[in-house]
Amino acid sequence: MSQILVFIEHQAGVPLETSLQALSLAHVLGDVCSVSIGACQIGGVARHFEVEHPMLSDYAPEAIADALAQLLAAESPSAVLASGTERGNEVMAHVASLLDLPLATNVTEVRPADGAWELTRTRWGGSLLEEAALTAPVKLVTAAPHAFEASAATGAVDAETFEPELPETLERTRVVERVTISEGITLTTAPVVVSGGRGVGSPEGFGILEELAALLGGAVGCSRVVTNNGWRPHSDQVGQTGTRVAPNLYVACGISGAIQHWVGMMASKNVLAINNDPEAPMVTKADYAVIGDLHPILEAVVEEVRRRRQPAT
Ligand code: FAD
Repeated sequence: MSQILVFIEHQAGVPLETSLQALSLAHVLGDVCSVSIGACQIGGVARHFEVEHPMLSDYAPEAIADALAQLLAAESPSAVLASGTERGNEVMAHVASLLDLPLATNVTEVRPADGAWELTRTRWGGSLLEEAALTAPVKLVTAAPHAFEASAATGAVDAETFEPELPETLERTRVVERVTISEGITLTTAPVVVSGGRGVGSPEGFGILEELAALLGGAVGCSRVVTNNGWRPHSDQVGQTGTRVAPNLYVACGISGAIQHWVGMMASKNVLAINNDPEAPMVTKADYAVIGDLHPILEAVVEEVRRRRQPAT
C-alpha cells in the first residue's frame, strides 16, 4: 500500500481540527505517517516525525518546506497531504516548488486510478468544483477544510525526531509581533456563529447578536458590507475574503447570502436565516428561516433562551 505523509499543524502540541481532517483523507489512500514541526500529540498513524531545528521555532514557511523536502528524500512517501489552510497551502506550495512537482490544493475528493489520482477540488473560493487528474510520481495535495470528518487520531505514537540541515539563507520570514484578536471561543471553532449583515443597520445593532452568541456559547460573525462600513473588524468577516466557518448552527441575521459570503459558511451543519426578504438567497438556501425585521425577532429569541435557562422555582 502507498505511504502517505501528512503534515500536521498544531497549537501547543494539539493538532488542528483541519489537520485531523487531512489525516482522515490520508487513511483511505494508504498507510499513514505524520510529521509536525516540534512536539505534537498524534495517534492512529504508523510513524510520527517531529521536526526539530532552531529556525523552526516560529512560523517559517520556506524553512518548513525545506525540512519536509529533506524528510521526503529520506522516507520516499508516494504522497504528501496537508490541510488547505493558509499555512498548509503556503508550505505545500514551497514544497512543490522545491521538488518541481504539481500541487493540488483544496481537494474535496480523491479517486485513485492506475497510479494517477482523479481529484475534485474547490476553486474560486468554493463557488466552483474542478475535476483534475494528478499523475506526478509523488502526489502533493491539500485537503479542503471541513470537506472531511476529522480523524480521531487516538493512541499515542512514539515520535521520531528529524533534524534537517537548514542553511541560514532560508531564514526569510521573521515573526515580529503577535496580536491576540479574540480570547476564548473563536469564529473558526465556535459551535454556534451568530452573524450579521447590512440588515443589522449599525455597530450598536450588533449588541443583541453579541448577547445571543454569548448565551449559546458562540461567536459573532459578519458580512463584508459590515466590515467595509467599519461596524466590525475584518477578523469577524465570514466568506471568500474572510474566515471559513463550519459551526453546528449558523444564524444569518440580515445577510442576503451572496455567493462570496455563502462559500465561507456553507459547511455549517444547520443554517437559520433571519431576513425580511423571503426571496433572499440566504433564506432560500437555509435549513430554517424566520421572515421579518431581525431586531424584534432577536430580542424575542434572546428573551426566550434566557427564560428557558432560568432554574425552575
Ligand atoms: P446585502 O446584500 O445588502 O443584504 C442585506 C440583507 O439584509 C438583505 O437580504 C435584506 O433583505 C436584509 N435586511 C435588511 N434590513 C433587514 C432587517 N431589518 N431585518 C432583516 N433583514 C434585513 N461578502 C462577504 O460577506 N464575505 C466575503 O468574504 C466577501 N468577499 C467578497 C469578495 C469579492 C471579490 C467580492 C466582489 C465580494 C465579496 N463579498 C463578500 C461581498 C458580497 O458580494 C456581498 O456584497 C455581501 O456579502 C453582502 O453583504 P450583506 O448580505 O450584509 O448585504
